[in-house]
This record gives sequence, C-alpha cells and structure tokens, in this order.
Amino acid sequence: MFLERIPAGIYAVNCYVLGDKATKKAAVIDPGGDVDRIMGLLKDNDLELEYILLTHAHVDHIGGLQELKNRTGVPVYMHEADLYMLMDGRANQSVALGGPVVETETDKLIKFVDDGDILELGELRLSIIHTPGHTEGGICIQVGDFIFTGDTLFSNSIGRSDLEGGNEEKLMDSIKNKLFVLDGDLKALPGHGPATTIGVERDTNPYV
Ligand SMILES: [Zn+2]
Ligand SMILES: [Zn+2]
Repeated sequence: MFLERIPAGIYAVNCYVLGDKATKKAAVIDPGGDVDRIMGLLKDNDLELEYILLTHAHVDHIGGLQELKNRTGVPVYMHEADLYMLMDGRANQSVALGGPVVETETDKLIKFVDDGDILELGELRLSIIHTPGHTEGGICIQVGDFIFTGDTLFSNSIGRSDLEGGNEEKLMDSIKNKLFVLDGDLKALPGHGPATTIGVERDTNPYV
C-alpha cells in the first residue's frame, strides 16, 4: 500500500494520498489545497487517481476540492449529511475563519457513502464508518491496518462538537461505539496532528 501525508492548504490539514501498489490506483482523502503538490505526488509515483474521499466538509478539508475535481474529473465520495456544507461558506466555516470563502459546486461527480459501505481501490478495500458528532456527515475510513479518523479522533484529543453540524453526545457515541470497539493495533491517521492507534486513544485519551 502506498500512503503519504501532505499538509494541504492554508489550514495545513492532513491530506492523505492512498494508493494500491499492485494496480497503481489511488485516492486522495481531504484535499484541503496544494493541488499542484497532490498532482505531483501522484505523477511522481505513477499513480492514477480513481476518486476523492471527504471525511467531512469543513473548509480545511475541502479547500482544494473544486480544483482537484476540475483537473481530474474523478468522483468524490462523502456522506450526504454534509453535502450542504460544500455549497455554503458559512456552514463549512470558511466565512468564520476569514480566509477565502469556499463554496464548491455539486454535480454528478459527488457520490454518497454511508456506514458499512465498501469502496474498492485496486486490490484495497476501504470500509466506511459513519461517525457523526464533529459534523453530522463525518466518516472514518478503514483500510488494512489503518483508519483515517478525520476530525473525529485525534492523538490525545477529539474533534470539536461546537462547530456547524456538531453534537457532543453523538461524537462521544461515535468514538466509543464505532471506533473504540475496533482492533487496538489499528493505526489512526487524523485530519490534524500526529498519527496514533485506536488502543492508545482507548486507554489514554483524556476527553473520552
Ligand atoms: Zn472539521
Ligand atoms: Zn479539520
């Protein structure tokens, strides 16, 4: 498996490029910006972009979405409950944060995934886990020994539940009953900050 992290966009979100070494098919998770760099990484590694995935639709995770979508024409997989945020700069926090207002077109390239769905990427299988609470449409994505946790779970911290789409009770429920029930050895790759494991967070996360 090919896996690389790019600190992308003005908010330096953890954007991940995931690839299947056997078939050279790749996915980009949370293109916050720096689309040239994302495209360069794909090219340098001879990877062919199959689709884009969004853990949720806050601005730091979607700042480069429109450009990447325009340049590649690949589908974008996300949870339907966050769709309105793509089109609404207030909802996706770009207005509040004071940077460029991000409002992304929605069209037939936007596809919806929900809890339990499996996406194929060459020989890789990506499992979608719906984890509402940071936003209503937040998802985590498990592939092999890794899980992309978006802004739901961080190393030694958890996502905010006071932003658009947030709900503290749902966030706690998602973390405890969707993530902490998984294998403790799973390596967790969050939307911000360093990697961790499900087991470490289950044992030591001070917010849960
Ligand atoms: Zn967020
Ligand atoms: Zn974020």
